[in-house]
Amino acid sequence: MSAHRFPPARSLRALPTALAVLALVAALAACATAPYTGRSQFILVSAGQEARLGAEAAKEVLAKEKISTDKAKIERVRRIGGRIAAASQAEQAWEFHVVENDEIVNAFALPGGKVFVYTGLMRLARSDDELAAVVGHEVAHVTLRHGAERMSQSLALGLGEQLALTLYGGSSAGAQAFKVAYGIGANVGVLLPYSRTHEYEADRVGLVYMAKAGYEPGAALDFWGRMLAQSQASGGKRPPEFLSTHPATEKRMEAIRAMLPEARAHLPAKGRPAPAAPAGTL
Ligand SMILES: [Zn+2]
Repeated sequence: MSAHRFPPARSLRALPTALAVLALVAALAACATAPYTGRSQFILVSAGQEARLGAEAAKEVLAKEKISTDKAKIERVRRIGGRIAAASQAEQAWEFHVVENDEIVNAFALPGGKVFVYTGLMRLARSDDELAAVVGHEVAHVTLRHGAERMSQSLALGLGEQLALTLYGGSSAGAQAFKVAYGIGANVGVLLPYSRTHEYEADRVGLVYMAKAGYEPGAALDFWGRMLAQSQASGGKRPPEFLSTHPATEKRMEAIRAMLPEARAHLPAKGRPAPAAPAGTL
């Protein structure tokens, strides 16, 4: 019965931390349910904490990246983002920013609703419907609280001591810990890949949002198809950044195809205007 042997002295030293984390988990464990999919989620971070940390990280992105001043591009992303945010009916301090960099094909969202789209990705998204597919997916990551789940997992694993101090002890030293837990890499603007569960869930809910906002969900397949073609054209040497965190495999595209009827049921009835962006959406 070696599995029941008393732990060796070395791991005993880690015990107080582990107990503290366990106590924290016991005190705060809240089983949330993901909207639309009904999946139960393990979340230890409040929406307010999540929004505060996301806003801090967004400040850093805004300071480090070249934010576009091109009125047409800004208007395009804000118009699409605003309609999708309205369709999500999620109360977040939404902000949609354009990063001026044609070399980078990427988009990402921070908790609390700060969404960044690179001009390189905008060039590849030929129609508003295609861009809406990307924005819908990113907005879904926010409303489904995937970032909070990611942070909660590292807290529960005892990997987030610094983060725990920041969240519950008022320390401000945890910005880096937050970035690690949230999956923001050394390069600002590069988020580590989400799990497959999170990706499929964001695909499914993102398609519903885009349809509710009046965009054709089938455009998601056109966009992913073009991403895949671009990657194959480069011989897989330099896949677009968005593709490195969002693998456009045949399997994923098949899954999206199967999700289309559900999404299309949410398209506004003909003649009825799609919801407009709420006032104050940046
Ligand atoms: Zn994603």
